[in-house]
Amino acid sequence: MQTNKVQSLGIRLSAASRLPLYRQLFDAVVARIHDGTFPVGFRLPPTRALADELKTHRNTVVRAYEDLHAAGFVESTVGRGTFVADAAPPRAARAGAPPERAPMPWSTLATQAINNDTFLRAERFAHPVAAADAIHLNRMQPMHDLLPHELLRRCIDRALHEHGPDTLGYAPTGGLPRLKELIAKDLERQGVPATADDILITSGSQQALDLLARALITRGDTFLVDEATYHGAVRLLAAAGARLVPVPCDEDGPDLDALERLGRGAKGFYVMPNCQNPTGRRISLARREALVEWSHKSGVPLLEDDYASDLHLDLKPPIAALRTLDGEVLYLGTYSKKLIPALRIGYLLAPRALRGRLELLKHAMDLGTSALLQYALAEFLERGYLEAHLKKTLPRYRARRDALHGALLKALPSRVKWSVPETGLAMWLPLPEGPDPETVWLEGQKHGVLVGPGTLNGITEAGQKGVRVTFCAEPPGRLIEGAKRLGRAFAAAERRSSASKPTRQLEVV
Ligand code: PMP
Repeated sequence: MQTNKVQSLGIRLSAASRLPLYRQLFDAVVARIHDGTFPVGFRLPPTRALADELKTHRNTVVRAYEDLHAAGFVESTVGRGTFVADAAPPRAARAGAPPERAPMPWSTLATQAINNDTFLRAERFAHPVAAADAIHLNRMQPMHDLLPHELLRRCIDRALHEHGPDTLGYAPTGGLPRLKELIAKDLERQGVPATADDILITSGSQQALDLLARALITRGDTFLVDEATYHGAVRLLAAAGARLVPVPCDEDGPDLDALERLGRGAKGFYVMPNCQNPTGRRISLARREALVEWSHKSGVPLLEDDYASDLHLDLKPPIAALRTLDGEVLYLGTYSKKLIPALRIGYLLAPRALRGRLELLKHAMDLGTSALLQYALAEFLERGYLEAHLKKTLPRYRARRDALHGALLKALPSRVKWSVPETGLAMWLPLPEGPDPETVWLEGQKHGVLVGPGTLNGITEAGQKGVRVTFCAEPPGRLIEGAKRLGRAFAAAERRSSASKPTRQLEVV
């Protein structure tokens, strides 16, 4: 490796390093300040002399010195030079051997609220053993070519440039007013009536779910969910102490007779009418209307999770949201799936009577969602980037869905039948008599493909009988290869299933 020793400072920089020279110089000086080699008042060489020694442009050294100055490590006086500052940021305390102390009794201190089957299942599936080239049909997040990082960079730059330090403080608890206006407009575009006043911006829609669980549930309350549902919601509801009651469904949606029987006194019914996670099912318009009637008659609110909004792969207009039919529906959405998970920006539309309480809770939980990212998203929406992004990505998602579907048709036995989703980023493969989802999941790992076992989603045994495969986290070629591997994993699981015991009945929390 080509290195360059700087005699005057006793440090060594490398032209072959992945870091630019100015960063290496910065790091080397900081390290010497920390280890005491350069004490307070130590004079760094003049920039020109150091640049000559380094055989580099003077600007490189100037940049390193400027960064050292900005970070408070050095002070510069015109005509005198650059000196190590006496208020140089302190180095982290050196770790010595910790003194002997009795260990904390964490096992008894920790809450029992998450010691239930729901969380144990999540833990069991959290760390699949995967080969390095394993194909991810389990992740519901867009892969690199589906993420608009360059557009977001421009928006963050613009937000910082235009709003300066305003972007760096706490945002108002309910959200940035400008972003609330823009989200309301964005929802109107999708046919969901909304004003800025209706909207509470949340840190991902996961927080909107958490807020609703905290605002509605007292330990032991009944909460209604689909027989197989989003496991992230199940965990939050369970942690809040809800007793989850599964509602069966037919091809139009939740079974109304069952709701009449099971719903009395429930604190809510959590549904995903446009694209049920994990099954991809949709609720028909007639059933939506009936659900709204049932909700008011029984006094049980509907929680509508529209996480896959805008992801209409066949470009068919969506069925009217429950929130469009009824202003008392608690409606939540997110920019994670259609745009960028790392924004962590979701939103919640709630009736006036609940808004103050939700905002109080939100403030207690996180003091507000990142102001910088809210400014950036506002810029993104204002510039029309979202619609442009969807125009570009929807055909790609469609192509991936079709690639995976076609390959699965060839790879799986004809006994396995599934529906092709019109919305969203995942397909649900109901399992026929025979292999259970955990065995398919395990065999999948052995064969280099990761899937989502229905065990995570199912509240009932019937609800668990499937695996979810996503088509957003891999390119088409790898989706096709993933389907082939899943075919082999399925065959292996089938061979094992004859000898294996039946699926355990899971405790409903
Ligand atoms: N709802 C559903 C149905 C989801 O699948 C997810 C994430 N997988 C969320 C809500 C939460 O997503 P986020 O917090 O990123 O908005």
